[in-house]
Amino acid sequence: MNTENVIQKNRKGRLFVVSGPSGVGKTVLAAEIVSFFSPGLVYSVSATSRNPRGNEKDGKDYFFLAKGDFETAISENKFAEWALVHGNYYGTPKSFLDSNLEKSISVLMNIDVQGADKIAESYPESVKIFILPPSMDVLEERLRKRNMDSEKDLVKRLSNAKEEILHKTNYHHLVINDNFDKAVAELKSIFSSYIFPEKA
Ligand code: 5GP
Repeated sequence: MNTENVIQKNRKGRLFVVSGPSGVGKTVLAAEIVSFFSPGLVYSVSATSRNPRGNEKDGKDYFFLAKGDFETAISENKFAEWALVHGNYYGTPKSFLDSNLEKSISVLMNIDVQGADKIAESYPESVKIFILPPSMDVLEERLRKRNMDSEKDLVKRLSNAKEEILHKTNYHHLVINDNFDKAVAELKSIFSSYIFPEKA
């Protein structure tokens, strides 16, 4: 990459969209990548109408909103995208996204396949990365180990996973999360190829 390209690419923040089925490990992977590239890369905290799981904290993992408040925020155009996933609302606050990109800070979004399609329309420069499990059996095992969902939720998440994986062809990069360190290394190399070439 020549110097001109580097300057060009660093002028404005880059938007990275990470998707993948529930239980694939994308939240932990995303946290690792954000901490590695911080402060030039930040995590987009989504809003959701689902209840907090385990140790999740409001404002850190999600902004937990009542369903009615989420619907008000939709009507006030507060989201860059929103979707109904597994029966709950999820959405990306627009102001956080735009203010960081304008400050040349890149943003990592962990959103579902519907949200990724909407973002690709409004932010065509976005880089889309899909995380795959090594197999459906491993995915089920990870969801069961996580032990945070009811059996009904778990069945819904597994059946949605098959549908979500069909969308992987819409993404620029595929990463299989078989081994955590290997997946992190692959992701670092992908991110470095777009931003922060000095970290490659
Ligand atoms: P979970 O309930 O397991 O935290 O997330 C369920 C799904 O919702 C995941 O696939 C996650 O990527 C997706 N998701 C989280 N935040 C957003 C968002 O802001 N928008 C969209 N479209 N999907 C989201």
